Amino acid sequence: MSKGGGHKCLRVAVLGLHHESNTFAPVPATLDRFMAGGFFEGDEIVQNYGTSRATLGGFLELREHEDIELVPLVHADLNPMGPITKDAFETLVGRMIDGLVRGGPWDVVLLALHGAAVAEHQPDADGEIISRVRDVVGPDVVIGVALDMHANVSSRMVSNSTVINAYMTNPHIDPRPRAREVADMAVAAARGKIHPVSALVSPPVVIGILRQGTSDWPMSQLIDSAREQGRRPGVLSVSVIEGFPYADVYELGMSFIAITDGDQDLANEVANRLASEAWSLRHEFIGEAVDVDTALTIAAAARSRPVVLLDVGDNVGGGSPADSTHVLAAAKRLGVRRLFHSLCDPSAVVECSAAGLGATVELLVGARTDDLHGQPVKVRGTVQHIDDGKFEDPGVTHGGFRFFNAGPRVLLHTDDDHFVLLTSRPMGNTSRVELTSAGIDPSSLQVIVAKGVHSPRGAFEPIASEMIQLNTPGCTSADLSTLQYLRRRRPMFPFEPDATFDL
Ligand SMILES: [Zn+2]
Repeated sequence: MSKGGGHKCLRVAVLGLHHESNTFAPVPATLDRFMAGGFFEGDEIVQNYGTSRATLGGFLELREHEDIELVPLVHADLNPMGPITKDAFETLVGRMIDGLVRGGPWDVVLLALHGAAVAEHQPDADGEIISRVRDVVGPDVVIGVALDMHANVSSRMVSNSTVINAYMTNPHIDPRPRAREVADMAVAAARGKIHPVSALVSPPVVIGILRQGTSDWPMSQLIDSAREQGRRPGVLSVSVIEGFPYADVYELGMSFIAITDGDQDLANEVANRLASEAWSLRHEFIGEAVDVDTALTIAAAARSRPVVLLDVGDNVGGGSPADSTHVLAAAKRLGVRRLFHSLCDPSAVVECSAAGLGATVELLVGARTDDLHGQPVKVRGTVQHIDDGKFEDPGVTHGGFRFFNAGPRVLLHTDDDHFVLLTSRPMGNTSRVELTSAGIDPSSLQVIVAKGVHSPRGAFEPIASEMIQLNTPGCTSADLSTLQYLRRRRPMFPFEPDATFDL
């Protein structure tokens, strides 16, 4: 079929499996959790992501072209937690491959992946997916891949894709335009207008979570350099990939991808240049987090409010269980008032819902998953709000998410003047609507505890007088020396301070 401009009509498949797997986290990513969390086929993908700022939103923009037939096939998305079970991985990837085989032939396959997925039998899960897709479509079909900036990138991921990039912002506010960039490159490659070649360079360095904000130096410097390199003639795309520190995999760490139009030497030069710049800044990427008592004391005394305390050890966006009580327990002990704190605790939700709106309850909350994230805390208070936990935030949020589902939830106003939001699903605190939809005015609070590091910033920076990163224990602790790595490369900075990097 040929339409305006004489272009061949391209058939483009859209697929995804998006998971950031924390190999230190206690809760595995099972098939049931994927099915409950987000499994979409065909038009469901358009309904759920067409207007979103997420990666798929960018891919779906290709529908505006008359000479492209875009076919959304399968997408599975689950919030970060432990590794994907073998059953879940094989079932979901099986559905993807089936869809590709049955719906083909294709000119382009677009894949929305995270890049830090780990399956229990496939540590390089994203590399495995791209390889299997390559195997079924063959060497001539264009494969475009969009990754999260927290990807731990393997050479297999790059060699099996035609074009691959990652977000360039953390908090992630650009997934949609970055996905659009990959989609446009893939289409241009399929039409023979460009001939992409890629270089991947992964210096032996892990960037801790505290210094991953892209508007803060030194990450901002690397992003600026990458954009400058991206403007050189012949360079099609440059990605700075921060890496995901909480996955014990060989590919752990930072990496750089450069794509040029047919010039391998240029791609190598660009990726190498950025990698050496990152290496020279490695000591600057070590951040410092504040201990809980000190931060709470500062926050309680602050004249200007609210102060947002970032619970780094229970960073739900990094795979933790969202039920850590270290900060809540300390706030009770120190008598800090007007504090917001959420906890995933389905059984407490049931208990408070049964008591009913307005009831006074006394119960243990939080720390249901393991001992690493504290002990259950006894609270006494009034059930102030009950709802189904679904809310929508059309504003700027981390990852471009718009529709949120915390599961049934209950707000307790405790005798300590704490607002404790109990949820049935693990929730990071990345939207102010999470609070307002439960009847809380965020600006009336003295302290907001947000489970996350960078992800809460888009939502809370506009109203916070100060944001403090906490050195809380947990499976996403800022202190990586508390985690045991068996599979990573050695030596690596900062674990082995004398590590070297030779280009
Ligand atoms: Zn990320």
